[in-house]
Amino acid sequence: MIELKDLGMSYALESGKLTVLKDVDVFIGDGETVAIVGPSGSGKTTLLLLLAGLELPQVGDIKLNGTNLADLTPDDLADLRRDNLGIIFQSFHLVPSLTALGNATLPLEIAGKDNAKQRAAELLEKVGLGERMDHYPSQLSGGEQQRVAIARALVHAPKLVLADEPTGNLDVNTGAKIIELLFNLNADAGSTLVLVTHDEEIAKRCQRVLRLHQGKLIEDESHALSN
Ligand code: ADP
Ligand code: MG
Repeated sequence: MIELKDLGMSYALESGKLTVLKDVDVFIGDGETVAIVGPSGSGKTTLLLLLAGLELPQVGDIKLNGTNLADLTPDDLADLRRDNLGIIFQSFHLVPSLTALGNATLPLEIAGKDNAKQRAAELLEKVGLGERMDHYPSQLSGGEQQRVAIARALVHAPKLVLADEPTGNLDVNTGAKIIELLFNLNADAGSTLVLVTHDEEIAKRCQRVLRLHQGKLIEDESHALSN
């Protein structure tokens, strides 16, 4: 499903080139749950942006389901994201002028799907927000906002879910509930999950743990064997 080959990524700065990723090689199969772990600034978000086709690497290939992202036009990339990707950010990124239901419905509306409201309402029920559908983001707690963001990311049943520190802005208890929810929904849907985190406990719940260290991505062997 996901194939990264000899991937290298750097940002151009006035002071020179900042290399964030180098020689990254990894294959992630359909339905796998994979944690990307690393300290702040190690390139976790950069890697997710590359997977989402929101940044392009200077070196190497990113293939999703056999398609090299470098071969796609911006429109093709937007279609691919709309149809196949669900992205959850640390800071929720909800549209403030839309209710919980409006936010969760958005991806289906953009895709022009029928029964968008109904499907979004079902998902909001699943994430425990059946009673909060008409609330605006400012009227929801952090944990509730992240649950709306999860509903929005999953509403179109994406094959690949990318989550960037989804509990980073939540207290420990709320975060644990969100993670539980994310893993349960993902298992139900059988989608592939790539979860960025610096929390070892959360990482351990994934089938595989990949660590970013000085630009390289290295898999935990012991973890892979213990699962
Ligand atoms: P993480 O998510 O692991 O904290 P990031 O991928 O956000 O790390 O960033 C990796 C490094 O790249 C950091 O040193 C950051 O300052 C730098 N960086 C991130 N985005 C940009 C950008 N658009 N331009 C220049 N440098 C960037
Ligand atoms: Mg980050």
